[in-house]
Amino acid sequence: MSCLFCRIIEGNIPSTAVYQDEQCYAFNDIDPKAPVHVLVIPRRHIASLAHAEPGDEALLGRLLAVAAEIARQKALGNGYRVTISTGRDGGQTVEHLHLHLLGGRPMGWPPG
Ligand code: 5GP
Ligand code: ZN
Repeated sequence: MSCLFCRIIEGNIPSTAVYQDEQCYAFNDIDPKAPVHVLVIPRRHIASLAHAEPGDEALLGRLLAVAAEIARQKALGNGYRVTISTGRDGGQTVEHLHLHLLGGRPMGWPPG
């Protein structure tokens, strides 16, 4: 499996874990864009949100709930942003579904 995030899940590429369970893994982004920048990913390879299927709905909900729980653990009480870059126009650079949890500073709008 050549997918970068699958290799991170397998431990073949080092990462700093923030949270993990049977379905999800969360780790610090290597190039943080905010004081808190965590990636939340499913352990199972799904290429992008556009590749998720109806049977993945519970997993998608779980990923969001994990992001919210990490935000609580990191005391992001002033707010935070969760984004999912999807496809070329969405700016997705790693083809394994991931949620960005960004916090610790005010976010601008619109995103670039
Ligand atoms: P995307 O550009 O697809 O929305 O997000 C991919 C994210 O993965 C980027 O924020 C990038 O910094 C992060 N990333 C890329 N390679 C690695 C890596 O090897 N380790 C970690 N922890 N993050 C990575
Ligand atoms: Zn993968």
